[in-house]
Amino acid sequence: MQIAVDGPAASGKSSVAAQVAKKLGFVYFDTGVMYRAATWAAIQAKIDLNDEAACTALAEKIVIEVGPASIDDGRQADIVLDGQDITWEIRRPEVDASVSRISAYPKVREQMVNQQRRIGENGSTPGIVMAGRDIGTVVLPKAPLKIYLTASAEARARRRHEEELRRGQLSNYDDVLAAMKQRDHVDSSRVTSPLRPAEDAIIINTTQLQMSQAVDKMYSIVAGFLKS
Ligand code: C5P
Repeated sequence: MQIAVDGPAASGKSSVAAQVAKKLGFVYFDTGVMYRAATWAAIQAKIDLNDEAACTALAEKIVIEVGPASIDDGRQADIVLDGQDITWEIRRPEVDASVSRISAYPKVREQMVNQQRRIGENGSTPGIVMAGRDIGTVVLPKAPLKIYLTASAEARARRRHEEELRRGQLSNYDDVLAAMKQRDHVDSSRVTSPLRPAEDAIIINTTQLQMSQAVDKMYSIVAGFLKS
């Protein structure tokens, strides 16, 4: 059983989808971490992020491992890049600012999508909830249930800002909002696999919802679907 969950940054995708997966006993996989890991690797290697060939070569070379959380520090999973734990590094503002550029490169996407499809098809018993931007449209187009989570840019920026403050990062709401609008724009206007709901996706708007209400809403949709 595959459930595809897409939506823009901080729409609640990760936290809501992860909690619903847990309630169902399904595997949860957040595909954004792969694009973030590739971006972090490129920044570390001091590669020019406008150099598509260099970014692609790097994406083909690196080994990104995503495994169950081994430390109880609020993480949903361990993200390991060539043996180094980069779980929190990939959440840094410099990654936020650059990830859309790298994830717009078609060959970088090809690398990531192939791995994601393998993850979606194997190792997902009794089911998998996969979250991202193109899961329902490209990665798992045959997923029987597709959900698109969305919220106003202001609500999403407020959530992200509060999340950064909780983590002890410096954060300014206006900067977060501007960066988020920029990332939305790049993700939605790219040629390859732009962010958009699949035609058969169920849309949940979380602007006015607390996270627990969004979880209840998504869970009831999934439970209703599984019963039918
Ligand atoms: O979901 P998250 O905000 O962590 O994703 C970071 C970035 O990775 C997105 O802004 C987008 O550019 C890219 N991404 C993507 N396709 C996915 C998941 C993420 O292009 N399936």
